[in-house]
Amino acid sequence: RQAIEAAWPGLELVMLPDDPAARLPAEVLERIDFAYFSGDVYPEYSRSFFAATQGAPNLRWLHTFNAGVDNPVFRRFLDRGVVLSTSSGSTAQPIAQTVIGGMLILARPFLRWADAQRRRAWEPVPASEAPADLAGQRMTVVGLGAIGSEVARLARAFGLEVTGVRRSPRREGDPVERVVPPGELPVLARETDWLVLACPLTDETRGLVSREVLAALPRGAYLLNVARGEVVDEAALIEALATGHLGGAYLDVFATEPLPPDSPLWGLPNVIISPHNSAVAAGNERRATEGYFLPNLARMRAGEPLVNEVR
Ligand code: NDP
Repeated sequence: RQAIEAAWPGLELVMLPDDPAARLPAEVLERIDFAYFSGDVYPEYSRSFFAATQGAPNLRWLHTFNAGVDNPVFRRFLDRGVVLSTSSGSTAQPIAQTVIGGMLILARPFLRWADAQRRRAWEPVPASEAPADLAGQRMTVVGLGAIGSEVARLARAFGLEVTGVRRSPRREGDPVERVVPPGELPVLARETDWLVLACPLTDETRGLVSREVLAALPRGAYLLNVARGEVVDEAALIEALATGHLGGAYLDVFATEPLPPDSPLWGLPNVIISPHNSAVAAGNERRATEGYFLPNLARMRAGEPLVNEVR
């Protein structure tokens, strides 16, 4: 509240009560020009937040703590002409660290050691079964944005060769030597040991990692998905993991969330699952508010273009 008042003195503030059933009176809704979904009480609170702001007839701008805005709730705001901006970037570091953690757990014998530990068994991995060196392996990052770039930067520190996939060409400062368009993924997959998904879910990316792309990956390759479940053909992924074509996967996102209890993914020994939680970090709300919402509020006040505006 204080930071908002300092950024825009005199701006009237309405805090939506922390109650999923709360509704604002019509006369209050009418006075709302801007809304900030800070997300700290997601997802319960989000239902009342979106219900309330959806009904604000004069709403002009919605800023959200989210990075991905594929949820249909956002489309409804865009369709009625509300400017939408995101906090993409505010969770890039924790997510990238989680991706690298997943990679290290799969690349080094942590799962095997953990299994032996639960049985109180002292079972060193013999040299004959030593895992491949990580340095020199090839990583492909689909979606070289805030998250993908941080993954690429960290992966290069482990000696991986990283290629980015996105529609726009390579830019100065990209942490990769090569950026290729999404159409090249089926060919690039053949030279990919680690396939990282960090792109938005759009009509173009839905099913982008198809059965064919999975089959093109070398035997023993790994998938790391923090984008959205629908980017991957999940049935084909389960098959590729169960048959051993893929060496393993770290998955934070799924076609259906929560992941249904009967999903075969739960039981696969070479799969690490997190419940759409790869971003969890104490600093996220502060980073979203201080790094994205407040600067955008100042831009809105000055009539300047917003950062991370969704078009
Ligand atoms: P950014 O907008 O910073 O980056 C998105 C990147 O994806 C851009 O480089 C963009 O480049 C690229 N991209 C867009 N369309 C395509 C395409 N068709 N094929 C390949 N690349 C494409 O977003 P963030 O890095 O902040 O977040 C990315 C996504 O990660 C979010 O949209 C969300 O779905 C997911 N996410 C998941 C979270 C989780 O908890 N697991 C949390 C936060 C985000 P270009 O436009 O040039 O193609």
